[in-house]
Order: sequence, then C-alpha cells, then structure tokens
Amino acid sequence: MTEAMPAEADAVPFLSNIGLLMTYKCQVTCPHCIVQANPHRKEQVHPDEVFGWIKQLRAYRDGWVRIIALTGGEPFFDLGLLRAVAEYAQGCGLTVTAVTNAFWASSVEKAVRVLSELTAISNIAFSTDVYHQVAIPLENIRNGVMAATLCRRPYVISVCTATKRDEAYLAIVRQLREFTDDDHIQTAIALPMGRAAQELGWKAYETAAEPPRSACTSSSPIIFPDGRVVACIGPLIELTTPHPLLLGDLRRESMGEILERAQANTILHMIRVWGPHKLVTLIRDAGLGGYLPEQYIASSICQTCYHLLSTPPLVSFLTELAQDPTWQRTTAYGRAYYLEEPEMMEQLGV
Ligand code: SF4
Repeated sequence: MTEAMPAEADAVPFLSNIGLLMTYKCQVTCPHCIVQANPHRKEQVHPDEVFGWIKQLRAYRDGWVRIIALTGGEPFFDLGLLRAVAEYAQGCGLTVTAVTNAFWASSVEKAVRVLSELTAISNIAFSTDVYHQVAIPLENIRNGVMAATLCRRPYVISVCTATKRDEAYLAIVRQLREFTDDDHIQTAIALPMGRAAQELGWKAYETAAEPPRSACTSSSPIIFPDGRVVACIGPLIELTTPHPLLLGDLRRESMGEILERAQANTILHMIRVWGPHKLVTLIRDAGLGGYLPEQYIASSICQTCYHLLSTPPLVSFLTELAQDPTWQRTTAYGRAYYLEEPEMMEQLGV
C-alpha cells in the first residue's frame, strides 16, 4: 500500500462502541441538528425492542461491543426511559455514556439530583454552542460540570462551530475555560447539510478544490429507534435513501448478522483505511468526475463522504465497487496492515 495518509490503528476498536439514538425529541430546535430533532417529534426507542437489541449487542462475538453511547435528540428528555435503558445496558456488562444539552442542570443541586438517579451512566458529554445557547444558557453547562465533578462522573464539553475562527465560538471557549480546562473541551465541526444547509451556508467555511486526505477514525455505528443501523453518527444519519454505509435493519435481521456484515463492508473500510478522497480518485478514474463537488470543506472529510453517499449515480458506482473482488481483497489487506484488524481477511478467506 502506497496511498498517502492511511489510517493508524483506532484508539477505540472497530464496533466496540455503538451509538443508540434514544429519541428525536429535544427542547431545542438547533439549525445544525443533523437528525432534525425538535420538541414535537414523537419517535423514540421502545423498551420491548431496545432491551433485545442491547442483549444482542452484548452477545456479538461474545462481548466485542464494550460501550453503548446514548444520544438523540436529547436522551435526558425522558429520564425514566434513559434510566431504564442505561441500567439494562450496564446490567449486560456495557459501559454507558450519554450526550446531553444540560437543559436539566438549571442549578447544581438539581443537576446532582439527576445524576444521582443515573448511576449507570459513567461518562457524560455536554453539548453547547451559539445555537444551543438561544434556549439553554452556558450556566447550565457550568452546573452540569460541577455536578459531574461532585458525582465523580468523567465528562467532556463538545462545542459545535462551522469554523474555529468564529468569534462566537471563541467566546464560548473562553467562558468554558473559566470553569474547566482544555482537556475537557472538544470541537465539532457543523456541516451545511440537512436543516443546517439553509442556516449555515458555505460562506463560513474554508474550502479547497481537492478533498482533505485524512482517513476516517470516527465510524462508530448508530442504532435508530426504527431499527436501522448506520455506520457512523456523522451527517450520513440524515440520509433517507439507501447507501453502502446503511448497515442493516434490526427489525429484519439480528444484530450479529448486521455487525458481521459490517466487518466486510468494502466502502466503509476503504473510508477507514484511506479516507473518502480514495473514493473520489476512483470516481474520477471511472469518468464520473462530473458528479463530484466543485469545492470541498477543508476541515471535514465528512462533507466528502456525505456528498458521495447522497448522489445517486455515485451510490450506484460505489455499490458496484463494493462487489469487486480485487477491491475487497485490497481493502481487507489494508485493514489488516494499517489498522491491525484481520477480521475482513478472515471473512474473505485470504
Ligand atoms: S468520514 Fe464518513 S463514515 Fe467517517 S465519520 Fe464522516 S461521514 Fe461518517
């Protein structure tokens, strides 16, 4: 393999961390929300189904999955459901993490009360940014952080922005530093897609004529309330049309079948080993360059990935590419060599 910038072995092994979208409900209607959550949405996981899915997760390859990440919408919207799911997952031996906008942390006392009820959740990610703050003040994040500290719960604060040069983003980071340190602050790049396409626009981004050349290190699958499993929790989750990173449907097949097939998903592992730019090169070589974007967001490989998987002629090309035995073997070898993951080679018998 001579490709530029192949991936290195992930800190979190493939499929060891699975997301669960608990609900599409949220108190806020942020413009950059990739799942288009809002207070009026009704869809959420049902205990009858979700406990079975968690049990199957734990059974996959006898404990391969270690972490379940509860997300939404706002998973704390229904505290009873959150507690039931978190306790069930913990009882199955999974580490449980949750992301929240901290709407429930209106005072330190209240936040401590909530966290004391949720002992099964061992790590918390607080989300904040200029959009959240329209409805949820930074004071709630401060209260949540103090409560997490008092309850000895590790936490991070994720701040979403179109660009790290944005003044409002920088102001939030300065305010966060008044009560936490940089090790607890992460930045997430919001992309102009879905509902965010109208609100964010492209002007805020640094763009380039070529896609960024990084590999994807963030592809942890996520389960939706309707049973769909998608390969990552990034912008792909808002796609409603079929694409190669739609891994399966838990209402039609078992978790084991879906995750085992993911182990040999050629397109997913090409993105993990070399990055979406590799697919862009193959698309150009196949004479399909006219379907590629004219510009790419310099700071995000996900925009490239989203474009490829939401453009029907490119989806057809990638679906065919995934069946090509040479690329299957090359990808399996790349996965074993660069990521130290032999599972695809084992499945293909090479
Ligand atoms: S590069 Fe693609 S697979 Fe990876 S996190 Fe981004 S959208 Fe998901």
